[in-house]
Amino acid sequence: MLNNTGLTLNSPVTAVRGIGEKRAKAFEKLGILTLYDLLSFFPRRYEDRSQTKLISLCADGETACISVIAADEPRLVRIRRGMELVKFRVADESGIADITYFNQNWMKNNIVRGGEYIFYGKMEVKGKHRSMANPTYEPAAREGTVTGHIVPVYKLCRGLTQNNVLQSVRAGLDSCAEILPETIPERFLRSRQLARIRYAYENVHFPADFHALELSRRRLVYEELFLFACAIQLQRGTHTVKAGKVFAVPDISEFYAALPFLPTEAQKRAVQDALNDFTSGKAMNRLVQGDVGSGKTLVAAALIWCCAKNGAVSAFMAPTEILAQQHAQTLTKLLSPFGLRVCLLTGSMRTGEKKAVREALQRQEIDLLVGTHALFTENVEYPGLGLVITDEQHRFGVMQRSALIGKGETPHVLVMSATPIPRTLALILYGDLDVSILDEMPPGRQEVDTFAVDSRYRARLNAFIRKQAEEGHQCFVICPMVEDAEEENTLQLHSAESQAKALQIALPGLRVACVHGRMKPKEKNDIMSSFSRGETDVLVSTTVVEVGVDVPNATLMIIENAERFGLSQLHQLRGRVGRGTAKSYCVLISDTDSDESKQRLDILCKTNDGFRIAEEDLRLRGPGDFFGSRQHGLPEMHVADLGADTEVLKTAKEDADSVFEEDPELSLPEHSLLRERVTEMLQNAAETWN
Ligand code: ADP
Ligand code: MG
Repeated sequence: MLNNTGLTLNSPVTAVRGIGEKRAKAFEKLGILTLYDLLSFFPRRYEDRSQTKLISLCADGETACISVIAADEPRLVRIRRGMELVKFRVADESGIADITYFNQNWMKNNIVRGGEYIFYGKMEVKGKHRSMANPTYEPAAREGTVTGHIVPVYKLCRGLTQNNVLQSVRAGLDSCAEILPETIPERFLRSRQLARIRYAYENVHFPADFHALELSRRRLVYEELFLFACAIQLQRGTHTVKAGKVFAVPDISEFYAALPFLPTEAQKRAVQDALNDFTSGKAMNRLVQGDVGSGKTLVAAALIWCCAKNGAVSAFMAPTEILAQQHAQTLTKLLSPFGLRVCLLTGSMRTGEKKAVREALQRQEIDLLVGTHALFTENVEYPGLGLVITDEQHRFGVMQRSALIGKGETPHVLVMSATPIPRTLALILYGDLDVSILDEMPPGRQEVDTFAVDSRYRARLNAFIRKQAEEGHQCFVICPMVEDAEEENTLQLHSAESQAKALQIALPGLRVACVHGRMKPKEKNDIMSSFSRGETDVLVSTTVVEVGVDVPNATLMIIENAERFGLSQLHQLRGRVGRGTAKSYCVLISDTDSDESKQRLDILCKTNDGFRIAEEDLRLRGPGDFFGSRQHGLPEMHVADLGADTEVLKTAKEDADSVFEEDPELSLPEHSLLRERVTEMLQNAAETWN
């Protein structure tokens, strides 16, 4: 869309009046490159400066606007060298307050006795004495600039002030008022009672009142999710329902009989769902969702077995080398008794080894190939590929999944995920997948007792580590790692290593090891395997152990800076213990002051149910935790900052479905703007994915 100045939503921010190279550089640090980014840079919070309050009604610590008369001449007081303050008294009909400005001597001349002003600041009440320090102010006659309305507060970075952002957003809104495309079809605007686009963008930044803000917020959340759901649908195109190989289904009890334990009812149900897909004539496209430890691997094994019985090859893709190796081992144990040939293919293998695997595949001497993304990047061909399984799917981009599927002629696809995604979000993320849920744990699994503590408990905690070790058990210590910031990364790295050193000193005689993402795969692997053989007592690590690693003898999980992790991620980490028969514990260490963080950690202490945790996380934080991270292979979502209720998610998805039912290619004229916007999203996403 163009307006007469040639401006589009994709124009660089420098096209906006008042934004020069320097400010654009600062915006870039916040991920704001285009006009659309700028408009979608929603405030983190708002300050209500729309109402004035009587002095006597302000509570201690309350931030408020007061409308007052200056009761005396401002005085300049010198406390000590380099510290001067301007002091004066103000009054309204209810009482008086003292106003103080530190080191802002010019304020002496700005305030005139008898003048009317509005001050916005934090009221301090001590007995009968009320005061405000360094409030924002303006003369009552000029009300409306910094007081008199709801003021947005933006996230900042070096080189940007609130005022800079505010002015830039204002100018951005002014320049594009005509080109904001109404992408939501008219009928939904009406049926869902959504605010119009110009109104929404205007009021999310500069709300006329709180009602307007709420209306705008709702519309923008809807819009983003609606566009996202449409993008996924469009990308999927027509390949949703494809003809698939029809497999003869062997007697599955033969497989179950050979297991060292009985499958749970939930496992049997999931396997049966998939077997039904095998005979349906359509290609299977199924998600198996089950909390950590629910036994997803067994479901996969049963299906691989069935596939091999039909003479077809299976591919199993895991997100990391360590996991791929572990899965290869587990699956070999489960499947080799049936004569199945299992092979591993990962990026770090030698060229010769890889070549051997490729040749064996060509000669159809392999029944199951387990690997990392190397499975599709290494130029491998899969004659007779019948089944593709991806584990921990949320780690792969949607695009990567398609790449592996593209290797065969419509193989059956099984996606396994341990991230308990609330149903509504799952619908959008995996809208094309049938879902089987493992809602039952194998017998004997016990709850992991979880505690949230601060670092004052360190000494006691060390004693506890020693106690566990003396009982022959092992302990994980997880340090956070910031994945995308180079220098922070080094800092965190240092923290895992220095944490390991500190523990070794605090725990003489215990064997402490450290593993982190910067190590070579071989080194990492050696340390992990020696831990899993019980040769190390304490493993200090960054989140490389997060998914899937199985060490039943580990009974204690300690997580440093726990407030830095998402709840679901913490739950995953906790799932690394409590896998054996011994009582297990998880200790979350955090020195956070934030009530929200404390509340979140508290949820983990109260429940072991991954789905409940996910729902709570969604309620507390909005979908940001699920959508916000690049790990999911999804474009970044701005709604993350707005918060969203699940009702909006649901309606957005329903409406997107109804659009595609009527117009699968978005070719109707009333969908042309929608198509344009969605195509753009996909192009931008492709850039982040590749
Ligand atoms: P997930 O991948 O879902 O987190 P796994 O497949 O790794 O879980 O299984 C977790 C553990 O439970 C494994 O040690 C596995 O051998 C065991 N297990 C799986 N199914 C059963 C079952 N039906 N009965 C007993 N143990 C089981
Ligand atoms: Mg698993």
